[in-house]
Amino acid sequence: MSNLIIHRGTQEIGGSAIEILNGGTRLLFDFGIPLESMDREDYSPEDYKLAIKGLYIDEIPKFNAVFLTHAHQDHYGLMQLINPEIPIYVSKVTYDILKKITPLLSDDASCKLNLKVIDDEVDFAGTKVKAHPVDHSVAGALAYEIQTDDKTIVYTGDLRFHGRASWQTSVFKRKIKNPDYLIMEGTTIGRREQNIVTEEDLEPMFVEIFKDNELPLVQFSPQNIDRFVTVYRACIKSDKTLVIDPYTCCVLQVYSQLSKRIPQFSWNNIMVYFANKKIREKLTETGELFKFKSKKVTEKEILENPQHYVIKGNGTINRIILNNMDRDNINIVFSMWKGYLDKPNQFDDYKDLITCLHVSGHAYIEDLQNFVEYVQPKNIIPIHTEYRNKYKELYKSNIIELEDGQVLNL
Ligand SMILES: [Zn+2]
Repeated sequence: MSNLIIHRGTQEIGGSAIEILNGGTRLLFDFGIPLESMDREDYSPEDYKLAIKGLYIDEIPKFNAVFLTHAHQDHYGLMQLINPEIPIYVSKVTYDILKKITPLLSDDASCKLNLKVIDDEVDFAGTKVKAHPVDHSVAGALAYEIQTDDKTIVYTGDLRFHGRASWQTSVFKRKIKNPDYLIMEGTTIGRREQNIVTEEDLEPMFVEIFKDNELPLVQFSPQNIDRFVTVYRACIKSDKTLVIDPYTCCVLQVYSQLSKRIPQFSWNNIMVYFANKKIREKLTETGELFKFKSKKVTEKEILENPQHYVIKGNGTINRIILNNMDRDNINIVFSMWKGYLDKPNQFDDYKDLITCLHVSGHAYIEDLQNFVEYVQPKNIIPIHTEYRNKYKELYKSNIIELEDGQVLNL
């Protein structure tokens, strides 16, 4: 007999944790921190601990493994609480992000974790877990297909069909057929932007903005490699130099394994501003920072010739630009989910200067409808959504609305 429990995520975006139990095998999929943690100045992962026995450092481990779908905090943010005897499976790119990039931002224990790369499939005495690469706003995202004695369960993680690597999601869609249970994200339900805009559509919009005289300050996550490529290509087309920070240089290095076409700090039209003291210090210790010196640009150079540059925003450089330049000469491009602007941020006094240019990391409703139509799941279980009640109207399948912590016999 097998069971499924969504410990968190049936009615919220983020903080997902799904347990699957099959005979003696116990597996956990994702272990994220809820998004509300972002509103708090100070929090500890302990504040968001779930009542799951046999998972934590101070307990006898009862889980065979944990599987993470991708390197977003709302999917991995509690992993440091996991007993290091339990292996945590991730894709190769996620492994490198968690090992090399997240330690730059915090002094968490990610280096002590028992991380393992999943190549294709792992078998736990007949319970098989297969990884399927999918497209999302961070590279290296996976969906999982779990085969128990007599049931197939598919967990989408976060995915979309409109990024530069959307072919991956299409391959995934073709590979899974008639699963018994499809645990499917529904982030965009309830969001207004449902016109199908792709990542490629953004490029000419950036070019238009970069042609203007104002200095563009573009706020986006460097781990969103699609967006980096879009902004970089727009810089080349408008003959501008993109100014990035050492943190971004490191992310690009990790992503170089994906393709030789991923831009690197040494490429033309890229310069490096040595922002963020803490990250600089960490990279000095490892000797990494020295590598970026040949491409260093100073704030004086940027402020004297702003017409040459496009700035990839970060806390330090935003402050310098906003404090030293006339507001009429700045153009802030907010290239992340608009909802972040509702929280207190550096641009609060500059709302009139903000242009929003973004496409979501999550599938549009119409794309998920086509996905469901093609895959024909016997049951859909909503997750990562604020509108699980809408699934019934939107998707032609039996919908099982679970509560957090409810046990479903499969
Ligand atoms: Zn995500």
